[in-house]
Amino acid sequence: MRARTALLHPGWVILAVSAWLASAANLPLWLVMRDLGLFGQMGGWLFALAFALMITACLAGIVSLLAWRWTLKPVLALLLLASAFGAHFMLAYHVLIDTSMINNALQTNTSEVRDLLSLRLAATLLLLGALPCTVVWRWPVDFGRWPRRSVHNLLQAVAALLALVLLVLVSFSPLASTMRNHKELRYLVNPLNAMYALGHLASQPLRRSSIALQPMGLDARAALVPGGRPPLLILVLGETGRSGNFGLNGYGRDTTPELMRQGVSSFRNVMACGTSTAASVPCMFSGLGRTAYEARKNNAEGLLDVIQRAGMAVLWVDNQSGCKGACDRVASVNTSNLSHPTLCSGGECYDGIMLEGLDQRIAALPAERRARGVVVVFHQMGSHGPAYYLRSPQAFKRFAPECTDNDLQNCDNASLVNAYDNSIAYTDHFLSSTINWLKTQQSAYDTAMLYVADHGESLGEKNLYLHGMPYLIAPDVQKRVPWITWLSRSYEVRTGATSSCLADTVDRPVTHDYYFHSVLGLLAIQSSVYRQELDVYSRCLSKGVESS
Ligand SMILES: [Zn+2]
Repeated sequence: MRARTALLHPGWVILAVSAWLASAANLPLWLVMRDLGLFGQMGGWLFALAFALMITACLAGIVSLLAWRWTLKPVLALLLLASAFGAHFMLAYHVLIDTSMINNALQTNTSEVRDLLSLRLAATLLLLGALPCTVVWRWPVDFGRWPRRSVHNLLQAVAALLALVLLVLVSFSPLASTMRNHKELRYLVNPLNAMYALGHLASQPLRRSSIALQPMGLDARAALVPGGRPPLLILVLGETGRSGNFGLNGYGRDTTPELMRQGVSSFRNVMACGTSTAASVPCMFSGLGRTAYEARKNNAEGLLDVIQRAGMAVLWVDNQSGCKGACDRVASVNTSNLSHPTLCSGGECYDGIMLEGLDQRIAALPAERRARGVVVVFHQMGSHGPAYYLRSPQAFKRFAPECTDNDLQNCDNASLVNAYDNSIAYTDHFLSSTINWLKTQQSAYDTAMLYVADHGESLGEKNLYLHGMPYLIAPDVQKRVPWITWLSRSYEVRTGATSSCLADTVDRPVTHDYYFHSVLGLLAIQSSVYRQELDVYSRCLSKGVESS
């Protein structure tokens, strides 16, 4: 009985943890609000206090419903640790946490996690997560009997809700104007941002039927090119390519000398579908375009299904964390965990690995399909951050010194850009090597290469790092991507798209919405899903191909 006197009501634990989360774990939010000048006057401070109390009430209300003997402490521990993680990424990289960021995080593999580990992450986890967890865990709580517990939980939740409503009412006008003028703030409210995003993702199957896969391009067929050999097209799906850091696109540094010599065409004004891999890659291959892709009710087949339906052979080679559904019904191989004396180490490989043994991989595809054409997708590791320095071999470290700290803010900006530019220099070499490999295949195929990156990157501009900002407020550098085309002489003859014709069109504004239709156009695949106005090559393609 003596111990019982020291026991505390669960409500106090909930209130304490909620207040801690609203204050300390929301440091990124408070810093951003300070930088926006929102604490300028007395009114600003009062609003901040009301806002913190709103977050506290909201969290306390949610946790109250879970305040049972076996669930309360695990739930609180989970919230504390998740918030500590969130706070670290928001502080270190200035990312915002929304549905697409959480979707990305859920699809992260172990080598990507390794790239993100740092002393600073450990310190934040310890201070904001582990220490308060220990306190909560040791806190003696009197849960009482379950009927009383249910009543108390419900009363607490109602009280929290009332407090929230009251706070919103008294601070309605500053709250409404702040949220309208600074949309990014909602993605900074820790951990409600992550909870909302997880809920949104979890409810997706309810909003979108995943069983019924909508077929696409049932009428697709490859046009017969008179006297032509079958096409062999390599689609290089770039990772984290900043259009502006390509020498080809007018960058001050010569990051792309090899491509320059190959005589490629480079579209300079291309906007991505999303600001993350998980958003952009499925969208590019969906053929729906950004608006329709985001609003889609059903999952549908995509570009590679249409190409296969036209009778061609398709192979997806992945040197990264997977194809995010874009290669679901297609032959695929992962090269990121192969072993190779110079190209692979530490559980990952440089992109050059994708060219190793490619002849045999293509030869293993069905012969009757190869006779109609071959499409190979190379999914690059590219310039995946924040460990850019890991993405280029020693021989391509043209710009020094390099930032080698995963906490990008610990590096000076010049060394960060150096590390990034070296990864572009290696991509330049990889793309040029791909072209050289294609040149060895010209006796059997008409060959071509198209390189388009999934999204760009922030390299410290406006104090932002990495990518994945909500699309509407993301800076241009996260959305502007390179789009580079190489056509062999025989491909030029086959399509009529000469490099001089393409050179006249490289400044036109283009988006990822064009990707699907441009690939179909290059392959001369005819289908009702093809839209000529979204084919960047259409102005240069000759109309002389016949139907098979
Ligand atoms: Zn990506």
